[in-house]
Amino acid sequence: MDIQGKNITILGLGESGFSSAKLAKHKGANVFVSEKSAKNKSNEYINIFNELGIEYEIGKHSSKVYYSNIWIISPGISKNDKIIKDALNAKIEIYGEIEFASWFTKSFIIAITGSNGKTTTSNIINSMLIKSNHLPILAGNIGIPFSEMVLNELVNNKKNIIYVLEISSFQMEFIKFFRPDIGIYLNISQDHLDRHFTMSEYIKLKLSMVSNQIKDDIIVYNYDDKILKKSFQNTHKKAIPFSIKKDIFNYSLKNNKISNKKNGFLIECSDIGILGQHNYSNILASLNAIDFLHIENKILINALKEIKPIEHRLELIKTKNYINFINDSKATNIEAVIAAIKTFNGPMILLLGGRNKGSNFQYLLPFLTKNIKLIIAFGESANEIATQIRDAVRLEVSTSLEDAVVLAHKLASFGDVVLLSPGCASFDEFIDYKERGFKFKSIVKELK
Ligand code: ADP
Repeated sequence: MDIQGKNITILGLGESGFSSAKLAKHKGANVFVSEKSAKNKSNEYINIFNELGIEYEIGKHSSKVYYSNIWIISPGISKNDKIIKDALNAKIEIYGEIEFASWFTKSFIIAITGSNGKTTTSNIINSMLIKSNHLPILAGNIGIPFSEMVLNELVNNKKNIIYVLEISSFQMEFIKFFRPDIGIYLNISQDHLDRHFTMSEYIKLKLSMVSNQIKDDIIVYNYDDKILKKSFQNTHKKAIPFSIKKDIFNYSLKNNKISNKKNGFLIECSDIGILGQHNYSNILASLNAIDFLHIENKILINALKEIKPIEHRLELIKTKNYINFINDSKATNIEAVIAAIKTFNGPMILLLGGRNKGSNFQYLLPFLTKNIKLIIAFGESANEIATQIRDAVRLEVSTSLEDAVVLAHKLASFGDVVLLSPGCASFDEFIDYKERGFKFKSIVKELK
């Protein structure tokens, strides 16, 4: 796509807007950045825009946004927003940042999507590629804009790189040409129904990631996920299934061992640096995705041994009087809570709550087994959780995360796991899941 001399509006000045503005300028476009909110805009962005001659407005979207017929929009702006509907009516071409950046690179792309496990899987693949002397570049939803990395590739004339792109469903709105060489589908759950409205719309969005794939491109998908199985098992595309339940595919999990059909035994699960069946599923996805590189087993094994939990994902904070405190603040939907519950066998106090994203907590009922001795529901959704779970398990209600942790500590005994796996967004009390996780850690560290 040649954008030389074209007028491009970047709507929304987050990190990805900043990077796409620079990339568009580098490719010779006339760039105009428009950010509605006047809050927290970094001077660094403004200084660089002034330096590069990028025009901008902060605190409004003026009529100037309509002077260009290409818009690159931030993932924070939904296609259902009025401004987007108006622009589409005005025949403006709208693209997401991932789509836009992809126009300017021919490098190999592994794209990872799913409701849960994207960051974990991206990191597993990244470390396996580093260990085997490939040149991976992590980008996307993980917090590093793809545009920034593509700009870096162009400026430094980088060769032989492999992009490991974490893709959220929001980033799949306005896809036109984006085409990953390998597209990984980890799972599809009912997350983000507040924004996508219906499950079928959500599934359609997720599947659009591979809609432009051609003959030799590959899809790696979770055969254990009913929706993914239905979507891909009869596709005419090259689709590689993985499963932690059936040991019939290329890589498999059996008797707590991961094996490969051709090469046999690879590793004992107890030697892997992260816990939980869901993570073994993420590992099978990763191994399948990079199978075409024929990396030696020895290297893969080393990478798997050295993997560590990523902060805020089943992260052990403190063991005090043989009580383990686990920070799983990134568990913002029910599937992630179920994965967390299944990871631990001992008695557990589960902290659930925050801002409900449209989830039904009754999905938890089959998993509230005997080892869950108490649920503490906290925050905005506490009463809703209490109503939905009723008397399936002992339940207490707390107004805030802090009160919930203090109560959990008071009621916990020798050998318990106190698990913050909230199953909700954090915005009722915190800026994001990270702030919630840090707060949890600091409260736990202060406990006497
Ligand atoms: P994402 O980037 O998709 O949000 P993360 O790797 O950050 O995924 O993990 C988010 C939450 O989901 C964590 O609570 C983690 O323990 C849980 N999780 C990770 N992988 C899976 C999986 N395959 N299935 C269910 N939950 C998972």
